[in-house]
Amino acid sequence: MTYFFETYGCQMNIAESAAAEQKFLARGWTRAEDAQVADLAVINTCSVRATAENRIFGRLGWYAGLKALRAGSPDAKSKSLETAAAYVRDGAKPLKVAVMGCMAERLLKSLKRDYPVVDYVIGTYAKQHLDELIDDIENERGLTHAAPRVNRRDGIITEDPVYSFSPVSAEEGAFSTFVPIMNGCNNFCTYCIVPYLRGREVSRPVDEILRELDELHKRGVREIMLLGQNVNSYRGHLHVVAQTGAAGADSAHGADSAQNAESAASATGAHSAAPTVNTADGVQSATVAVSADGSAAGADSTQGAAPAANAADGADSRIITFPELLQIIADHLRETHSSIEWVRFDSSHPKDLSDELIDVIARNDCLCKGIHLAVQHGSDRILKAMNRHYTRADYYALADKIRARLPNAALTTDIMLGFPGETDEDVEATLELMRRVRFQSAFMYYFNPREGTPAASMAEQVPLEEKKRRLQRVIDLQLEITQQEMAKHVGNTEKVLVERESRDDPSEVLAKTDRDERVAFKGAKELIGTFVTVRLDALNGNTFKGVRQQEN
Ligand code: SF4
Repeated sequence: MTYFFETYGCQMNIAESAAAEQKFLARGWTRAEDAQVADLAVINTCSVRATAENRIFGRLGWYAGLKALRAGSPDAKSKSLETAAAYVRDGAKPLKVAVMGCMAERLLKSLKRDYPVVDYVIGTYAKQHLDELIDDIENERGLTHAAPRVNRRDGIITEDPVYSFSPVSAEEGAFSTFVPIMNGCNNFCTYCIVPYLRGREVSRPVDEILRELDELHKRGVREIMLLGQNVNSYRGHLHVVAQTGAAGADSAHGADSAQNAESAASATGAHSAAPTVNTADGVQSATVAVSADGSAAGADSTQGAAPAANAADGADSRIITFPELLQIIADHLRETHSSIEWVRFDSSHPKDLSDELIDVIARNDCLCKGIHLAVQHGSDRILKAMNRHYTRADYYALADKIRARLPNAALTTDIMLGFPGETDEDVEATLELMRRVRFQSAFMYYFNPREGTPAASMAEQVPLEEKKRRLQRVIDLQLEITQQEMAKHVGNTEKVLVERESRDDPSEVLAKTDRDERVAFKGAKELIGTFVTVRLDALNGNTFKGVRQQEN
């Protein structure tokens, strides 16, 4: 049996598609090179912008034609579907179509009704039920005898809203990959649909994250991106085991004992099973299963799940913040001589970026110095209407702290133009903020109302042409600033990670710095996936031209 994934939207979707693929591979399925010859096509969708959804509706139309052809319909058109037509002549099986991701969650009830091409709708919380979908398809083909548990009447796979993290989200052979550490968002920015579709913040237990890092090390991964809608509000469980003696007991509970606590956890291979849910009232602590055995010699890192933490067996758990998590990860990578040398994270909310987080980044070389901090706007009035919980002055203070503590860091951002009620004065405030903070780069876009969010029904919507005009002003300024900021690094000698061959010049490869800037230099494709040292000699557009240096 074969599957084909078509993925839209954010990095979390890419990670979730890769994790879902592992399920199919584990069941003996293989990846089809082309949807036209797959047994199952899975479309992982995005709802953040209406344009993203419209594109997916268009794809469903294309899949309807493909499905009709694969079913042998005499009316099916084979234009642009030659591969499928040949496959049908050779006796192809029918195609099944599944839709997962945010759009599946948003249109859970109506998608199958409105688009009969869709066989399965997999809600945001139902990815753990992919095995049931696989059972269902195999069963229909007479391949298994497992009782199908998918609701055959409506084909909708949904569950109680409990988000589950996959053990590994890396694609086979990847040297750079995403590691989801939390999901959901409690912030409810007035323009954003994410909290409605991804639910409240759920943090992955520390031990699960470390186990994934160990697996990625075995695969030779060099760089990871810790992912979440709002990573710096991470509040995950760390299982700790009190050591004999007063010092050990203190280390499990002390406020600043992340390193000690991590040592105890990694020594025992501790296992915490449940994610942590951040509620409006604080942290709702999920039941935690922990290993009971505190002895390093006798610990079994793959099993050892006792039913609950209690003082009698010396096991306990505590909540870890994002800066603590980063320190734990940095220590773990160093202590395990991991292949992972660079750690990035995304997305960060300015209101949750603490001094402690800046300090942790400054202390650890493995934590990359490219910091993405979405400002969204430069006008306090608009920031308030967006429900962002910070002011322009707050953002300036944060940027100043980052510059002082991390002088070589590159600060990048997101900027939205055309929010309802935005005036020329507000646009000027945004331009002023950009001149003051001097972002290395920015993702700039205009407000696109999403049905179901407060901003969609706000008065004083800005006309589309005006939104585009304002956006262009911001883009023009940012292009200038990007050039000027990048030029400051010309002449540096830097460690870079080689990512791919250059399309323009096959004798060149493209790499990135730890600030996430692109570098082109002469080099063989065998360097892809390795770190090398490069001198940044010049700037060509937004790409450095470099020369490889001899490594020591
Ligand atoms: S922080 Fe705001 S923009 Fe980001 S996911 Fe949450 S609600 Fe959406």
